[in-house]
Amino acid sequence: MNKLWNRSLKTKWMLTTGLTIFISYAAICIVTFFALQSWLLSAEEQNATRTAEDLSSFFASQGFAVTIQDLQNQSGLMQAILTQDQTVRLFHLDGREILQINNAAPAVALPAELRHTHIEKMEVAGVDAFVIHRAVQIGPLHMILQLVHPLTAFQSMMSYILTTMFLLGIGGILLAAGMSYLASTLLIRPLQDLRNSMEAVKEGGFASKVDFTYTAQDEIGDLVIIYEEMLAKLEQSFTRQQQFVSDASHELRTPIQSLEGHLSLMKRWGKDDPEVLEESLATSLQDVGRMKKILEELLQLARQENLSQHATANVVEVLAEVEREMRFIYPHATLDRSVVGQIKEANITAEALGQVIRNIYENAIRYCERKPLIHTALHFKGEDVFIEVTDNGIGIAEENIPYVFDRFFKVDDARLHVEGSTGLGLSITKMLIDKYNGDIEVHSQIGKGSVFLLRIPLKL
Ligand code: ADP
Repeated sequence: MNKLWNRSLKTKWMLTTGLTIFISYAAICIVTFFALQSWLLSAEEQNATRTAEDLSSFFASQGFAVTIQDLQNQSGLMQAILTQDQTVRLFHLDGREILQINNAAPAVALPAELRHTHIEKMEVAGVDAFVIHRAVQIGPLHMILQLVHPLTAFQSMMSYILTTMFLLGIGGILLAAGMSYLASTLLIRPLQDLRNSMEAVKEGGFASKVDFTYTAQDEIGDLVIIYEEMLAKLEQSFTRQQQFVSDASHELRTPIQSLEGHLSLMKRWGKDDPEVLEESLATSLQDVGRMKKILEELLQLARQENLSQHATANVVEVLAEVEREMRFIYPHATLDRSVVGQIKEANITAEALGQVIRNIYENAIRYCERKPLIHTALHFKGEDVFIEVTDNGIGIAEENIPYVFDRFFKVDDARLHVEGSTGLGLSITKMLIDKYNGDIEVHSQIGKGSVFLLRIPLKL
């Protein structure tokens, strides 16, 4: 049973259907065969009895003065009453045979006692037959009539029925097996496709997913849809996880660099100068706090959480903070700033804005062959603040501009090799700006520099 349970669905299906059809067919055949047999047998019995009765009536109609000789002369008439294979004999009460009509079967021993009619099924000369013994009155004589009615026709009829049932059964079962094989193949194929796709994903990851062509809206169709949705969700969460890991390592690079700088300052001068120690400790703590918040912001991005309506940032303060950090890490860079309009809070977290500005500043400094000069123009206007960051870097070729915000996009530039370039900075910047309903665009000219234009909604 256990062995059968572990066979393929197709085999189980075929066996079940085949067995069910076989049992039903066999039951119908058995019932029909026995019903037919008893019906035909009783027809044969009636037939034999009727012949015996007809003969008795014939004898009775002969009158009282009839002799055996008269009867023998009328044997042709009596033959007409019988069928070809029936044999009739007349016996004296003492057992002497008087008359015989047809000789298809040998005589049978008379019964020990006979009142009226005695019918029995027995084998006569190797053939099953009905044997009737009946007391008859012929003229003044009491005699015994013996009729042997062989069942040859009945038996050949039964064996014909049996053979037909058997052949039809075999044909039917073969047909049913073929049909159930076809049906199971058709129905199980999508399951096999599903299995193969799962196997492919297991072996080669989401990229090796096999597309399905099964469109029927049945249980298997449901299964395929559920599987594809599940796979899409898994893929999404897997991609987000990977995204978080690479984004985090990209975004933590600068704060870690700054922390490292302050720690080495402390190590070198802090022991003798309590002022340096105090200041470096404070900045280091600030860096650690910022890293914590950057991680939170990235986690929110990865989980695709909605923006907080209460997020506020003092744009000028955030800019000043990032500028200070840049000057510390890149002392050769010059950063300046101008403000137009009334300063207001922006609807973005200070960490997200810090990350955005930091990524733009870092690029401006890193993708620059000259002494970096960065000018930031802030313009508070209506419901938004516009931030324009202009650099004197190498610029971005026109054909690359549409791709700079794509994940992992890096310009292949032989003139400048920048360490640690991952192609992630601007894509994170864009994701953050989108999250807080802002816009970002870039204008650039090779050799002259780039301008990054940001729009961020104000907190109203
Ligand atoms: P990365 O993290 O590698 O700096 P980004 O997504 O920040 O990647 O930038 C993508 C590409 O755009 C960079 O490889 C660089 O070639 C180009 N790029 C970005 N900012 C500037 C800029 N201010 N000046 C020139 N090229 C830039």
